[in-house]
Amino acid sequence: MRKILIGTHNKGKFKEIAYLISKKYRKISPKKLNLPSPKETGKTFLSNSKLKAKFFSKFVTYSVLSDDSGICIKALNNKPGIYSARWAKKHGSFLKAMRFILKKLKNKKNRGATFVCSLTFKDPSGKIISAVGKLHGNISNKILGKKGFGYDPIFIPKNYQQTFGEMLKKKKIKIDHRYLAFKKLKKIVKTL
Ligand code: IMP
Repeated sequence: MRKILIGTHNKGKFKEIAYLISKKYRKISPKKLNLPSPKETGKTFLSNSKLKAKFFSKFVTYSVLSDDSGICIKALNNKPGIYSARWAKKHGSFLKAMRFILKKLKNKKNRGATFVCSLTFKDPSGKIISAVGKLHGNISNKILGKKGFGYDPIFIPKNYQQTFGEMLKKKKIKIDHRYLAFKKLKKIVKTL
């Protein structure tokens, strides 16, 4: 069976990506191989996902698929963006970071936000292919729902009434930024 390393230490992302990739692949996590994480020195989602794919591919002889993603909030000048995970660390937890965001957005008319995901596939020959997916929506007034991960409980995708935190996983997985990036990638890397 073909193997693929899903280049992320984030459990939520790993599950979503593993679900999207064909059953023909055996999905390996960096945790299983005891791998470290690279320093995210890029300035864009795309450069960070490329950097992660290159980093993780040093440890395996098979293909790697990496993800860099985050939430961009209009009223906060598109922050936290690539710093989404680091913001949660800085505030102490995702819950605290979400509370901080809701406080900052209090009385703000524009609650628009975009979830962005860049996926990078690197095959053993060294070929690199990336795709970016963006999903627009709004920040809710409250933290709602216990499903999903990260900022899911404060993001309501456009044309929906629920936050990702309230949505069934099988529904979120078919509309989110990761899915949109994956769809583009699969058009090029047909085996995925
Ligand atoms: P990084 O790509 O490892 O820098 O981390 C991205 C961070 O963005 C995650 O830790 C989450 O906080 C957030 N994020 C990315 N995708 C999602 C999602 O689908 N739902 C909720 N939060 C997400």
